[in-house]
Amino acid sequence: MTTYPHTVTGHWIGGETVAGSAGTLAVVNPATGDVVAETPAGTAADVDRAVAAARAAFPAWSATTPAHRADVLRRLGAGLAARTEEIASAITAEMGSPITMSRTAQVGFPAAVIDSFAGLADGFAWTEEIGNSLVVREPIGVVGAITPWNFPLQQIVSKLAPALLAGNTMVFKPSENAPLTARILAEVAAEAGVPAGVFNVVYGTGAVVGEAISAHPDIDMISFTGSTRAGQRIAAVASATVKRVALELGGKGANIILDDADLPKAVTTGLAMAFSNGGQVCGAWPRMLVPAARQDEVVALAVGAARQYTVGDPTDEATRVGPMASEAHRRKVVGYIERGIADGARLVFGGPDRPAELTDGAYVQPTIFADVDPTSAIAQEEIFGPVLTIIPYADEEEAVSIANGTSYGLTSGVFGAPEHALAVARRLRVGQVDVNAGRWNPLAPFGGYKQSGNGREFGRLGLEEFLETKSIQR
Ligand code: NAD
Repeated sequence: MTTYPHTVTGHWIGGETVAGSAGTLAVVNPATGDVVAETPAGTAADVDRAVAAARAAFPAWSATTPAHRADVLRRLGAGLAARTEEIASAITAEMGSPITMSRTAQVGFPAAVIDSFAGLADGFAWTEEIGNSLVVREPIGVVGAITPWNFPLQQIVSKLAPALLAGNTMVFKPSENAPLTARILAEVAAEAGVPAGVFNVVYGTGAVVGEAISAHPDIDMISFTGSTRAGQRIAAVASATVKRVALELGGKGANIILDDADLPKAVTTGLAMAFSNGGQVCGAWPRMLVPAARQDEVVALAVGAARQYTVGDPTDEATRVGPMASEAHRRKVVGYIERGIADGARLVFGGPDRPAELTDGAYVQPTIFADVDPTSAIAQEEIFGPVLTIIPYADEEEAVSIANGTSYGLTSGVFGAPEHALAVARRLRVGQVDVNAGRWNPLAPFGGYKQSGNGREFGRLGLEEFLETKSIQR
């Protein structure tokens, strides 16, 4: 048997490694094409075992105090931070995130999110008097968590921290493309004082393990982050057991640059929000909406800034754009670049060919189109790659209507004079808007309108998602 650098020998169920029964799945480094790990290919029977462990652990864990659970979370956050290098290199190996980004965003954000939830335990209204009723907020039970590959640790921590703080137990299926941090997280959680059975990991595909979790009668809630297509299927499967389903889905963010914006700042920030993590960010801004009369200026600024995005080996600290997360995903992104050209958009940077000298690996050129028709495929569909579409607009009404004119509604940016930009932000049908590059706030709820989902993560609203409400009249 070959031993790979990151091999995972079993599921994590009831606080121990449990061998899989049905073969393995390979994890491929997209920069090299090499297999870097194998994980078990889980089955419905593995999910049953994990659910039984989570169910058995629920009474004791849900009876602990929020203050105790917050302490456990704080230790968990510190434990992850202490293993930053190991986690960062695993994420870079499995999905190609540039190593500097792996250390900062891929590990730094989860640590901040855990701290922010731990800080909520004290002030939260776990009980409330409403007239003659005592209203009690209680854990839901067993939570099934299913996550994508783009921020493997951040996506699960955004669920684990509020779910465990609320007193739930969990069964987690990581993405089959990026499963390596799940085991590290489980080990750190155990060391931090998460009892056996409270957090379980079952590896496998969406079609087998994901479906089994969604359908399971003993799972009380699904918290899903991933594509709209998979979210639709999960909601349909979960409906038979009427479990709660929280969906965090795709996006097609717009960066609206108003006529009174600081143009260089709006363009460079917007480009970063389109190219960061190779554009593989749900909250990215792949559309840049600009006053038609200023499009040429914007194109010059964007092309100048794009030259700074060095593409290459994600283990090199100078790299800003690594490979796409897989060869299949590279082909999808290149297909969209070809489609943009065929549909008549003006290619001003990059293109469908491989970046020079990168003959192997899942690399694409960061690409910019101008004069993009807002109804065309590259302006409507989620590409999830480093492809910026510059869309000219005639007036503000048209800008708002273009921004709101996709089936998604996750994030947007607006740049302009502060009050003007705020007024436009209020008209956007999205769950989060950054005005003039407003800072990330881990306590602010994040989630989608329309087909970007129905959940909210982070902060008090993110915690409430994992709670049931009981009214006791007396
Ligand atoms: P994906 O939907 O293909 O897979 C996500 C997860 O769902 C994986 O674990 C996969 O195995 C599982 N899955 C797939 N089919 C399933 C099914 N029928 N039943 C149960 N589980 C199933 O998404 P991806 O390619 O891994 O990630 C990219 C997508 O995730 C993009 O659409 C992106 O916008 C979205 N995303 C959204 C957010 C957010 O917060 N809204 C954050 C990150 C990524």
